[in-house]
Amino acid sequence: MADIFSPSKRTEIMKNIRTKDTGCELVVRKMIYAMGYRYRLNKRNLPGKPDIVFGVRKKVIFVNGCFWHGHSRCSRGKLPESNASFWQKKITGNVVRDGKILRSLKKLGWKSLVVWQCQTSPKGDSKLKRRIERFLEK
Ligand SMILES: [Zn+2]
Repeated sequence: MADIFSPSKRTEIMKNIRTKDTGCELVVRKMIYAMGYRYRLNKRNLPGKPDIVFGVRKKVIFVNGCFWHGHSRCSRGKLPESNASFWQKKITGNVVRDGKILRSLKKLGWKSLVVWQCQTSPKGDSKLKRRIERFLEK
């Protein structure tokens, strides 16, 4: 099925969603920095260019937008009702790609943690903090 929006309108919609994703990535980065950990961003030589990279620990964190990465059983991951097959195909493709990336990283000896957009909050979240701490210290 063809997209119901014109290409320029579609680009605009996608850009808006992407910007929101970047916002929650920033929240997580600030939280990690405040916890005293230092990291690198988007290391290009790693599969999937992980958002946050802890080189010495060989660990990476991905901050995934619920919509784009198809967070299952999440209200933000719900597909729009109009043009459903277009979205289904697009998001399923992303989920498959994400799975491949995590497997490739594992093969290279890197541990990954996925933080979902819906698990972040601008005020900071103690549950997420503990989860990140456990991940980095284990
Ligand atoms: Zn979610």
